[in-house]
Amino acid sequence: MNDYTAKVLSGLKARNAHESEFLQAATEILDSLAPVFEKHPEYEQTSLLERFVEPERVVMFRVPWVDGAGKTQVNRAYRVQYSSAIGPYKGGLRLHPSVNLSILKFLGLEQTLKNSLTGLPIGGGKGGCDFDPKGKTDTEVMSFCQSMMTELYRHIGQNIDVPAGDIGTGAREIGYLYGQFKRITGSYEGVLTGKGLTYGGSLARTQATGYGLCYFVKNMIEANGKTIQGKTAVVSGSGNVAIYAHEKITQMGAKVVAMSDSLGYIYDPNGIDLDVMKQLKEVERGRIKDYAKRVAGSEYHEGCGEIWTIKCDIALPCATQNELNLSSAKLLVANGCFAVGEGANMPTTLEATELFLASGVLFAPGKAANAGGVATSALEMSQNSLRMSWSFEEVDEKLMGIMKDIFEKCADAAKNYSDNPTNYVVGANIAGFLKVAEAMMAQGAV
Ligand code: NDP
Repeated sequence: MNDYTAKVLSGLKARNAHESEFLQAATEILDSLAPVFEKHPEYEQTSLLERFVEPERVVMFRVPWVDGAGKTQVNRAYRVQYSSAIGPYKGGLRLHPSVNLSILKFLGLEQTLKNSLTGLPIGGGKGGCDFDPKGKTDTEVMSFCQSMMTELYRHIGQNIDVPAGDIGTGAREIGYLYGQFKRITGSYEGVLTGKGLTYGGSLARTQATGYGLCYFVKNMIEANGKTIQGKTAVVSGSGNVAIYAHEKITQMGAKVVAMSDSLGYIYDPNGIDLDVMKQLKEVERGRIKDYAKRVAGSEYHEGCGEIWTIKCDIALPCATQNELNLSSAKLLVANGCFAVGEGANMPTTLEATELFLASGVLFAPGKAANAGGVATSALEMSQNSLRMSWSFEEVDEKLMGIMKDIFEKCADAAKNYSDNPTNYVVGANIAGFLKVAEAMMAQGAV
């Protein structure tokens, strides 16, 4: 870190002392950016970094809704509009009891760099609510979504801010949110992505984050003279990202032997049966422990964090932030894991990331490796504007090209700015930042 980045980080810590996730993400990013400011002293002159780390706007609002028993419930929602330097704000809506401003600011900051890396014209944003869709009826989820959109619609639009799914926000929630936006505004526009295929959604959006992760990981592994074929993989989580990461890495020749949910994990030495997992998680919205009742030879263990005790060559954390800590990283390294790809946002703690880099483990940071989801969301926006639908193969082909391009950008920036050419953390942060910085410089002190 140089004097300028250290000064900005210390100001950030003083003003946001209680926002631990936000400070964690900012520390990792600012730590990487020091060489950029040595090359570009004009950025400090214009307080570019101070502006970059501060969201352009944060909206916070209450969401009252009536539950199945007729009682009024109240939740707290946010939309963090982080950066519109290179396009309209774009980023998911998270529905989970843990949602707070710190988590959404960390996600918004990461999203800004991620969206820049895609090469597409999208700014960064993130939103969400401390509502838990788990265990709620469809009617309750609809009541909540309609109430949330009744405030949110004022702040979004196809050229302003385009939210999408995230943890807890899947096709059902996007459908209810979209219906309410249309009802209030009377406007049929691509204001949300992740829509159903009958009303403007894109083929391959459901698969995009998990598939894109595997495309990035394949590029990374092959660029370093290794291969996925015949390797063992562990994928944490069993939601949207995890399921399609499993599907693609298996197609690439690996065997996935463990998956998890927030309560525990399944170990299946014969390879997790994805059809059973999809039925359980996508259709029945059930718990992963039931997998062991359906598939002979598999075992269920309580405690999702223990999944990293399972020996593997490739680890794909696809559940949530800070799910892979230093002691898990030590175990993975000791067990011979040679590649880690972050499907989730910031699933690896700072200390664990440092250990992977120091141990020569190939490490694909989430803001690059999981960018396939938002990239395909941007392709959904393009199709909506064109009033066209592309085939699954067309979208998948574009996704593959985008992920290859992101990997190459990260590798080039790592080579040019770091003494370790495989430090894709530095590579992703710098490559993502440079485009945003150039646009900010061109637009003046805004
Ligand atoms: P889902 O809601 O579909 O799935 C989340 C999964 O993670 C579930 O298996 C859930 O288990 C588990 N999980 C949630 N919280 C915890 C926790 N505290 N500890 C352990 N496991 C947990 O979400 P997604 O698959 O969409 O998102 C997963 C991650 O990927 C998030 O970090 C998200 O921000 C990121 N991401 C998602 C994108 C997308 O397109 N969906 C795009 C880019 C990033 P349970 O069912 O028990 O809650």
